[in-house]
Amino acid sequence: MKKTALVLVLLLAFGACIGLFAACEPKPDHEHTWVNGVCTQCDAKYEIVDYVSQLKLDENSATKKYTTNSNFVRMYIDGDTTHFNVPTTADHPDGVLKARYLAVNTPESTGQVEPYGKVASNYTKKKLQDAIANGGAVLVESDTDDGKWNNDSYGRTTAWVWYKPEANADWRNLNLELLQEGLGFGSDPSSNRYGEKCLAALNQAMQAKLVVHSGVKDENYYYGAAQEITIKELRTNFEKYELVKVAFEGYVTSSYDGTSYVQQYDEEDGISYGIAVYYNGSASDIKKALSPGSHVRVVGTAQDFNGTWQVSGLSYNIINTKDPNNTIRLDTETHNVEPMELTIDQFNANRTVDVVDHTAEGEETVYVPKTYPTHTLLVGTTVKMVNLIVDHTYTTPDGTSKDAFTLYCKDSSGKEITVRTEVLFKWNDQTQRSELVTADEFEGQTITVIGIVDWYNYNNHNEYQLRILDYKNIVII
Ligand SMILES: [Zn+2]
Repeated sequence: MKKTALVLVLLLAFGACIGLFAACEPKPDHEHTWVNGVCTQCDAKYEIVDYVSQLKLDENSATKKYTTNSNFVRMYIDGDTTHFNVPTTADHPDGVLKARYLAVNTPESTGQVEPYGKVASNYTKKKLQDAIANGGAVLVESDTDDGKWNNDSYGRTTAWVWYKPEANADWRNLNLELLQEGLGFGSDPSSNRYGEKCLAALNQAMQAKLVVHSGVKDENYYYGAAQEITIKELRTNFEKYELVKVAFEGYVTSSYDGTSYVQQYDEEDGISYGIAVYYNGSASDIKKALSPGSHVRVVGTAQDFNGTWQVSGLSYNIINTKDPNNTIRLDTETHNVEPMELTIDQFNANRTVDVVDHTAEGEETVYVPKTYPTHTLLVGTTVKMVNLIVDHTYTTPDGTSKDAFTLYCKDSSGKEITVRTEVLFKWNDQTQRSELVTADEFEGQTITVIGIVDWYNYNNHNEYQLRILDYKNIVII
């Protein structure tokens, strides 16, 4: 063997040894840069300590506890708030414990919407729902063991929420789990019963840069110029948004003359909140996007139009559907939106709902109960009323709404409601008008109507009424 060849072999062997050495000892030549628990430079994984499995529930402690495995959750609100059905006591006189999770503050998902708000909300709901569905259980615990439930300044009970994923599993503390998973920020995490574990879990999530700490954008959140809100928030805090660019999602119930009505169901309140969305009637693309049955994201400016709130000045660009400042149709399906059925009494009855309190200070969104006549909450919403008796009628004799008519109706106990129509036509087929609909047809009849709740303020009239846009929405029984 020649000398040079020998040197080459030795060099190769040496190189191989170095390679082998490096493979065995993966000592990084860099400080790991964590994003969502993975190093962006070398794919190493952050070793997450499972504090949740270390924390045990003492079922015999002196803290207050409620548990049951059926009919316990009354309402899932968001990531850090859940309402529970509990026995009626002085602490919870209406039998509802509105639990505000201790130690954690998840991003908002009701009222105002923040990045990862829906992610946190869905996480909490799924954990509790699955526990109940899979034979596990849910338990709410007070922080102190002095025999008291503690409330925050808004009347919500500050609490620990535990769940058993299945019958024989250990209890898991959901407050701690939310912190550990990076689904919330700390809310005074160390000054409570499980403070040490909460603080450790929060610090770990911040180090590993999980979810809300990641600096990564929430792919389901629109980062645009508009304020992301719910229609309920718009309707219950309109003054705050007047002339502001807002964005919300909802279902189109009907369209008429350049205006579409969009509504969004609110699970907590059990009603749909609606809003009129005005667009340029001649723009066929946007008209198509806002056609009845569409699930849409609307981006536009909130405005007071003669006392009726609407969203107009829509941003729309059919080319760029990914633009967060765009009004878009969210899917291609046509959804069937069932109108909310209610009686005249229910229409006029007072209803108390929790609304965002914008006078409250601090970062967290605070809700306050407010009472409204139901019809004021339902303006812009499509509702159904059955068995209305048409007492007398009126037909507009001239002007732009000539031949539109009004049905003055009563229910069986004499309660009154006004049903006002647009100029209605019968149709030969989908495209051919045949004849004008007149009020005579309904005089003295009992009818079922589907209409939009409308505030009518014209010529000294000032009342909430139902507005009918289509002949097919008045049916004689
Ligand atoms: Zn690394």
